[in-house]
Amino acid sequence: MLASNSGNGKDFELPCVCVWNMALIGIDIGGTKILACIGDKTGKIFASKRIATKPLKGPQKGLPAIAELIRKMLQEVNMGPKDIQAIGISSPGPVSVKKGMMLTPPNLPEWHNTKLVEFFEKEFEKPTVMNNDANAAALAEYDFGGSQRTPNLVYLTCSTGMGGGAIVEGKLVQGISDVAAEVGHFVLDIQGPQCPCGQRGCFEEYCGGAALARKMQKEIQEKSINTKILELAQGNIGKIDAACLVNAVKENDPYARTIWSEFTLRLAQGIGVVLMNFNPEALILGTIAIHAGDYLLNPVKEHLINFAWKPNVLSCRVEASAIGEEISELSGIALAIQALEAQP
Ligand SMILES: [Zn+2]
Repeated sequence: MLASNSGNGKDFELPCVCVWNMALIGIDIGGTKILACIGDKTGKIFASKRIATKPLKGPQKGLPAIAELIRKMLQEVNMGPKDIQAIGISSPGPVSVKKGMMLTPPNLPEWHNTKLVEFFEKEFEKPTVMNNDANAAALAEYDFGGSQRTPNLVYLTCSTGMGGGAIVEGKLVQGISDVAAEVGHFVLDIQGPQCPCGQRGCFEEYCGGAALARKMQKEIQEKSINTKILELAQGNIGKIDAACLVNAVKENDPYARTIWSEFTLRLAQGIGVVLMNFNPEALILGTIAIHAGDYLLNPVKEHLINFAWKPNVLSCRVEASAIGEEISELSGIALAIQALEAQP
């Protein structure tokens, strides 16, 4: 597992790791930051650094900057590119795993259609694998999480969006066009809110952090609602987010509790579909569930029986991720392991 100072968003390096000379490189490309790390097969992370995505203005400057970052980190732990065993890249979706390409993620327009695998394979001459961030996180849960090696496991990001990744019989389900387990766009209500994907009433429109924030901001503004949520956002409507909601729920704020009941009901509905589809033994929830804990898990478990068959519900553990913020590093490392295992 990671060193204890990895969760605070700051870079860190451990002192010399001279006895160890096999490196896996993990890369996590996000809309705000790009992370690169050096780790090993057991999930130990030896160095991790971040750079801001926006100033790079796209892959032309961005990709060499990531390569430079990796070289610098290797040097700092007394290693060189020859010590790299494999590279894994977690990218926002949609992606083409076969082509090793990021396709058209809405929050990274400058990076559209970037051939990530080709670049890093040329740069370091090591096996490289990429996947979308939710699939990468599901693999990280499978390799390193609390439900490690559970052969039937589904991970839901439960963060800004609602990404999903499914492991079935020990294998990540990819689908013909790499969008299997794209749970965020399961339609929960055909008359529901418009989703940017073109459908109405998608799971993500009810349970994604960004959609929740938009809904609360609009309602609080239009109806001048007096709520702790606004207080927790320092009175700034634009700053209201899912974290403010979770904290207001913990303080028993009446408006927050109303939003929370709708949210947990819809979350149970979405999870119910997942349980009927994949019949997993573990259903692991990311960010919002990590922050909310039992405030989220208890009502979801209560509602779940209305949305899936009892045996499916009874045979599945619904839990918050034990990996937490280290998911960025471990997602890349889990893909690097995949790259390594694909070698003859
Ligand atoms: Zn949608």
